[in-house]
Amino acid sequence: MQCIHPGFGLSYFNKELTGPEYAGRFAKEALELGTEVMLNSMVLEVNGAANEIICINREYGMTRVTAKSIVLAMGCRERTRANIQIPGTRPAGIYTAGSAQRLVNRQNTMVGKNVVILGSGDIGMIMARRMSLEGAKVLAVVEIMDYLAGLTRNKVQCLDDFNIPLKLKHTITRITGNERVEGVYIAQVDENKKPIIETEEYLQCDTLLLSVGLIPENELTRKAEITISGITSGPEVNQYMQTSAPSVFACGNVVHVNDLVDNVTVESMAAGKYAALYGAGKLEQKDEVRTVTGSNVRYICPQRIMPCDEGKAKLFFRVLAPDLDVRIEARSGGKVIASKKERRVNPGEMCSIQIPLSELNSDIVVDVIKEV
Ligand SMILES: Cc1cc2nc3c(=O)[nH]c(=O)nc-3n(C[C@H](O)[C@H](O)[C@H](O)COP(=O)(O)OP(=O)(O)OC[C@H]3O[C@@H](n4cnc5c(N)ncnc54)[C@H](O)[C@@H]3O)c2cc1C
Repeated sequence: MQCIHPGFGLSYFNKELTGPEYAGRFAKEALELGTEVMLNSMVLEVNGAANEIICINREYGMTRVTAKSIVLAMGCRERTRANIQIPGTRPAGIYTAGSAQRLVNRQNTMVGKNVVILGSGDIGMIMARRMSLEGAKVLAVVEIMDYLAGLTRNKVQCLDDFNIPLKLKHTITRITGNERVEGVYIAQVDENKKPIIETEEYLQCDTLLLSVGLIPENELTRKAEITISGITSGPEVNQYMQTSAPSVFACGNVVHVNDLVDNVTVESMAAGKYAALYGAGKLEQKDEVRTVTGSNVRYICPQRIMPCDEGKAKLFFRVLAPDLDVRIEARSGGKVIASKKERRVNPGEMCSIQIPLSELNSDIVVDVIKEV
């Protein structure tokens, strides 16, 4: 609801919508289908084996809901200063980009006048534009990696159009100020991400926004003893978005952090459809093969694939490092089952490849190979 900027729905609806407009379309559809919604309710426990959740709200108190299948869609949360351990004092004026976005866009509260943003993720870049539009001066977006963490389109629309400097291979080494932030020191980093102190410079500012990554919200998943990927920090799923607990499905940012909501929708549509089929006893269960990361691939989702006589599955994945003119190749049993060319790949932008489900006789390896 706080994402009042456009940029949602470009691939799913072929339209540029704001966050509330995009979500509103699905909310309307769900309500028209008669879905019962419990707002202001917090799920405290998921029990996949018993097909039940325990939740709490003011009206009903502690409530047990049983079902034939469950879909996890808890999204993710922002990493904070504590997660990245920046040295210095602990003054007011340090916000995660998402909380600043909520204060500015929903609560009509301006968070500062001179702003530095740490992290070039999409939320950080979108907030750089928002703060400029609201009259603040954004001194720099500081990024430790030597490449952009978010989408290129956001760099163009949110930084370049507003002349906001992007400092790649830099980090914040210190925060100053006691009551309120007075400034930050930034420095270049070497190849081991260690700050080069001789390059340190001081930026006088009253606000620091952190856009340093999102963590899938999986405390409930962990407590339910569902298998979690060490790389995505989300539950491992198959192409039906089915977790290691057969009646529990998962979708969206709780599975892996997506840059575009359109991809979340594609996965969520699958999770809903197959959770319903499972509940109706119509989802056939067979032995699965695994998806395996090859060269320049950080992770693949889904992690497991159930072979079928027909149909296709879309594998979403992220690369480890940016590259140009590459071939994406999926292999199973030594045979190439899908291949496509890509002009540019970037860790900040999700890649995908579609594979046939009928030719799978062993694990599926995905490689991103430089074209010569
Ligand atoms: C600042 C920002 C800017 C973005 N800009 C764009 C953009 O321009 N274009 C684009 O395509 N995408 C954008 N995105 C990404 C997009 O918003 C997400 O991909 C999408 O919202 C993920 O959907 P989700 O349903 O997985 O999670 P969410 O939308 O995060 O929903 C998860 C929900 O689960 C609830 N929840 C969590 N735990 C519990 C619990 N225990 N009990 C009950 N409820 C719980 C949460 O309160 C939340 O309402 C942006 C995201 C952010 C944060």
